[in-house]
Amino acid sequence: MFFSVSGLLQEPVGSKRKHELGPQAPLLHGTVELVRLTHAVLVCLSGEAAVDTACSRCLAPFSYVAPLQFEEIFIQQVEVATGAKVESEEGDEESFTIGLDHTIDITEAVRQYTEMAAAMQPLCQPECPGLCAECGQDLTLGACACDRTPLDSRWAALAELRLRSNG
Ligand SMILES: [Zn+2]
Ligand SMILES: [Zn+2]
Repeated sequence: MFFSVSGLLQEPVGSKRKHELGPQAPLLHGTVELVRLTHAVLVCLSGEAAVDTACSRCLAPFSYVAPLQFEEIFIQQVEVATGAKVESEEGDEESFTIGLDHTIDITEAVRQYTEMAAAMQPLCQPECPGLCAECGQDLTLGACACDRTPLDSRWAALAELRLRSNG
């Protein structure tokens, strides 16, 4: 996902460009707005992405559509007209940079933000029963033979047995 900003960087600060984005995995669609700052370009993206993930209970892989929205500053490294190195005050060391050929590549930003959108505890279905803690069987496929009585009540029953045998 590349955008040439050589034109934009020669326009006054505050100048904007808008692009409609078609499907480019993981992005399904979106709108990107590029705003010229002093020696940087602000990229505002809003759209939807397909998030590939695994169920946090039964571990089954599945994908879902998540809203994707971010604003990132891309730092200018060289002047368009002269090719001279630019010292930008915008952003920090972790900021994205505009390529030396004056293009912005938002692929990595889209990847990072899509990953963040998936960082919650996803469920393949709202009522996913998950895996049995004892034998690991996928309980979506059916119950297993394990005793899933909570440990506490089992100890209580054992304690009661001991009391009786002592008494
Ligand atoms: Zn599941
Ligand atoms: Zn089991």
